[in-house]
Amino acid sequence: MDYQTIIEKIYRDIQPFLSQGSVADYIPALDRVPLQKFGMAVQELDHRLLSVGDAEEYFSIQSISKAFTLILALQLIGERNLLKRVGLEPSGNPFNSLVQLEHDNGIPSNPFVNAGALVLADILLSHSTDAYGLILDFVRKISGNDQIRSDPAVSVSERETGFRNAALANFLKSCANLDNEVDAVLDLYVFQCALSMRCVDVCQSFLTLANHGQSSVSGRQILSLSQAKRINALMLTCGTYDGVGDFAYRVGLPGKSGVGGGIAAFIPGRLSVTVWSPGLNKNGNSLAGTQALEWFTTQTGMSIF
Ligand code: GLU
Repeated sequence: MDYQTIIEKIYRDIQPFLSQGSVADYIPALDRVPLQKFGMAVQELDHRLLSVGDAEEYFSIQSISKAFTLILALQLIGERNLLKRVGLEPSGNPFNSLVQLEHDNGIPSNPFVNAGALVLADILLSHSTDAYGLILDFVRKISGNDQIRSDPAVSVSERETGFRNAALANFLKSCANLDNEVDAVLDLYVFQCALSMRCVDVCQSFLTLANHGQSSVSGRQILSLSQAKRINALMLTCGTYDGVGDFAYRVGLPGKSGVGGGIAAFIPGRLSVTVWSPGLNKNGNSLAGTQALEWFTTQTGMSIF
């Protein structure tokens, strides 16, 4: 299949959609990213990476980082311990919902809502001597790019304005579902959200999940087959906020989105595809990115269904 021609056509056709979304202005540093940006990268197992547009420009991965911290938390404490503190069900509510967390008695509905990711951050703090270094080292290794860093302008900006996440973290603490201090958990959480990566890096990283847990960079098995299956299933059911039904219906792939406008998607056993375009739809998923992925699966005739 000639993926390069397909993504070049998508790049041309997507232009009118770029101005239709709105950037995540609730994090002031993200408000400055131009709406016109669009990048896309595709990589099949054992093939070279293909890309188009701004695929080599660094962007804020935001919630895409939750897939990485989920892998790390699973490696550190195992599935049984993790599931005592976080659930597995799509929430159907916005990713930063307070009502949902109270309704669930402080057990976040899944690891990808903000409350769930705060619990993951807490686990990393408790079970590693350097949680910051652990995350950074992991994303550099899984992507094959040792230049990746967390952007302090973004983390400081989010830390100063993240009142809702502070409320979630305090509520988790009141339910005894955080072991560390609230401030320490929030600091690590904004650090991971502020990781700057390119479409090509994210695409390479998620190829590991497409490859049933075997790193496409080092060849090392970093997740068991069963762990990869479970994480991939969670991405299908919970990876794209409360727009997950719309995303599955239109795109037909497991994926993880972030309010920076990135979406990492993949076909297990076959390929990884990442898009970035900062304008978001009402659910917080990249508007043009979702459209591009819908065209990609339609034009290639490939999805998981
Ligand atoms: N840092 C963002 C927040 O907590 C991440 C949200 C996202 O990308 O879903 O609001």
